[in-house]
Amino acid sequence: MVYSNFNLKPLNSFGLNSTAKTLISIDNEDDLLYIDEDYLRTRNLILGGGSNTIFVNDFFDGNIILIRNKGISIIEEDDDFVILDAYSGEVWNDVVNFCAERNWWGVENLAAVPGNVGAVAVQNIGAYGQELKDSFLECLTYNPINKVWKTYQNKDLDFGYRYSIFKYQKSIEIIWKVRLKLSKIKVINDSYSAIKDKIKEDNINISSPMQMCQLVTQIRNAKLPNPKLLGNCGSFFKNPIVHNSHFELLKKDYPSIPSFDSEKGEKLAAAWLIEQCGWKGRRVGNVGMHDKQALIMVNYGNAKGEEILCLAQDIVESVINKFNVKLEKEVHIIL
Ligand SMILES: Cc1cc2nc3c(=O)[nH]c(=O)nc-3n(C[C@H](O)[C@H](O)[C@H](O)COP(=O)(O)OP(=O)(O)OC[C@H]3O[C@@H](n4cnc5c(N)ncnc54)[C@H](O)[C@@H]3O)c2cc1C
Repeated sequence: MVYSNFNLKPLNSFGLNSTAKTLISIDNEDDLLYIDEDYLRTRNLILGGGSNTIFVNDFFDGNIILIRNKGISIIEEDDDFVILDAYSGEVWNDVVNFCAERNWWGVENLAAVPGNVGAVAVQNIGAYGQELKDSFLECLTYNPINKVWKTYQNKDLDFGYRYSIFKYQKSIEIIWKVRLKLSKIKVINDSYSAIKDKIKEDNINISSPMQMCQLVTQIRNAKLPNPKLLGNCGSFFKNPIVHNSHFELLKKDYPSIPSFDSEKGEKLAAAWLIEQCGWKGRRVGNVGMHDKQALIMVNYGNAKGEEILCLAQDIVESVINKFNVKLEKEVHIIL
């Protein structure tokens, strides 16, 4: 279906009141034909669940390609592993639950990450010590410009921290479905300190992926704002990675600075840096940084694009001034 002047407010978790010139809803393969030459001549944006996308203008002068194709199917299975396909319009958490209900391990720590399947590969979603790339086998994409279907293997996507080759794609290659490999053999990932602490606090033994899903969901619900009540897109910035020598200097001035090892250097906690600059719980007009999680920008109701960009810029500048560290946005800003 094709709609004109479509209000995107219900389709973005920040709750921004923006209107798209056109919205093309893709529910099945036949619908791809709607994306014809006329639309391809103008601006296009692929949208899933809208939980990582910020529309800063009141009007999007182009076409939103809304991916709504559904389905989960088992492709192969043996005593140890299962391979399944999930179509991009599926809600990610439904896929996580589908796996956990069947006792398949691999994505349970990614429970309750908002959004749809299509986007999980775009930024290699990660949470509580697990990343999509650990269970991702391949994805099938469709490019409406040359009408080519293509399969990308895990290694082709250059997965990194909140990154894949799709993250900043200039084209409009639609991820159509994602293939995952899950384990029937118990593999508990409890390396993350919040998980360890909660297991200790509740005095429990994790024996099933569903138990892990529930635990992670509880931890998340306790500290993350529910976008239905307070508009947000999760982490606004990525955790910055600095050179080890830079980290040593920071450590001298701030001995308690939290950090994690990473392949490319020392990863700092953006939330901590932002909090140290006094932004945690601070409101500026209709936007602000959440009082329980300083990394999350929230919409108090009528946020305007300008307010979002100004607050983001002020935070970036204050973190540079205090720590000489540049924060990079994790969210997809649509200008
Ligand atoms: C409360 C909250 C908590 C969050 N916690 C986490 C977390 O723990 N870890 C984490 O990694 N993220 C987290 N996020 C961010 C968000 O959930 C993820 O980025 C998610 O994968 C976005 O999915 P979406 O369908 O909503 O994407 P959208 O916002 O619709 O799209 C995101 C990007 O992907 C592109 N895209 C979407 N679908 C397709 C497709 N089919 N083909 C090609 N490109 C596509 C879009 O063009 C856009 O660039 C959180 C967000 C919120 C609101």
